[in-house]
Amino acid sequence: MTDGLFSVAFRMHTLSQPSLFQMDDFRQFFIDFQDHLAPRLDVYEQAIYLYVARHNVAVGKRDALIGFKSARKKMAFGVGKAGTSPSEGIIYEKLKSLEAKGCVKILSSERLGTRLQILLPAEIEGIVPSAVPQSVPSLEDVDFFGVAENRSRILARESWRCFYCSSKLDENNNVIEHVVSRPAGDNSYRNVVAACRQCNNRKNSVAAEDFLRTLYRDGVLSVDEFKTRLAHLERLRLGELRPQWP
Ligand SMILES: [Zn+2]
Repeated sequence: MTDGLFSVAFRMHTLSQPSLFQMDDFRQFFIDFQDHLAPRLDVYEQAIYLYVARHNVAVGKRDALIGFKSARKKMAFGVGKAGTSPSEGIIYEKLKSLEAKGCVKILSSERLGTRLQILLPAEIEGIVPSAVPQSVPSLEDVDFFGVAENRSRILARESWRCFYCSSKLDENNNVIEHVVSRPAGDNSYRNVVAACRQCNNRKNSVAAEDFLRTLYRDGVLSVDEFKTRLAHLERLRLGELRPQWP
């Protein structure tokens, strides 16, 4: 049994659940191997791992019987003694270290070779970092008043026009303000608007509807504009005026 490890014979064995690799799987396998697993393996281990992978996953199997006496000559040379294949002793030693690293499982030593199961980089504990999804806060939770970047989203939503009087805003004349003053009103996109300095000063803590009515009475807004602004205010409260997010 023990000399089976170095047998020249080689044959495949199919697991009960063969998984045929698709091209995308190979792409991921290669990326995972090179980026995450290879840096943890020495060159012998890399050569053996790839050889085993070639005869396992690459042909839709998860284990294979490999005779390393022959196989060792097909995987690498020039390591250690330049120009020579790794010795059988080295191969056996490296198989053990690969197993210790969780990359392969040595299932059995048979007359014709060593039966190995390979583990994909993604299956090896602690090799491929799990993708941490970048958490984007829900629009409802975003502070559109205290965060500079988000204030500019409000300006963009308003198309750089005052939410109350519709006058054109610019870099020097724009204020991000609360429709309902704090602390009653929050910093959400439903309560934060862009306004001109004049409106911001005049409105103060007056209710937005009342302020629009004042603008109408003062002739700043026509009756149609007044109705349009009231409707806009209602849409704001209903959450229909969503700034670009994220
Ligand atoms: Zn205004």
